[in-house]
Amino acid sequence: MLQIFGITYNGSSAGLQTFTLCDRVIRCKAAVAWEPGKPLSVEEVEVSPPKDHEVRIKIAASGVCHSDWTYLYDCEKGVKTPPFPLILGHEAAGVVESVGPGVTAVQPGDKVIPVLLPHCDKCEFCLSSKTNLCTKNW
Ligand SMILES: [Zn+2]
Ligand SMILES: [Zn+2]
Repeated sequence: MLQIFGITYNGSSAGLQTFTLCDRVIRCKAAVAWEPGKPLSVEEVEVSPPKDHEVRIKIAASGVCHSDWTYLYDCEKGVKTPPFPLILGHEAAGVVESVGPGVTAVQPGDKVIPVLLPHCDKCEFCLSSKTNLCTKNW
């Protein structure tokens, strides 16, 4: 099972239409890091339907940022990382494709930008329109 950070990548910037596939596994392309320090492998992966408080996003574009780089290359320096394999590219833009039970903040069809850290929606930074670095998860 792959650790996905709630992100799917469809390998294309075309087609922002949404689908209602919340009860089915979908297949898409992803840049997979199978182990630290090794090249990424772009391959087809399966993405399960969203579970409680999860969303599945049809990604239009994404990039690999320095946090991804840190997970891939600095974990041997003591940096805590999620377990491998990882799918990198959490800095993305897309459209909510389906939502799991308990999701109330977004709905299928909403344009969204995934972020690395979860939000508490209560701290000074979550309530600010100028940043998204939640103090409870940083
Ligand atoms: Zn990032
Ligand atoms: Zn917060």
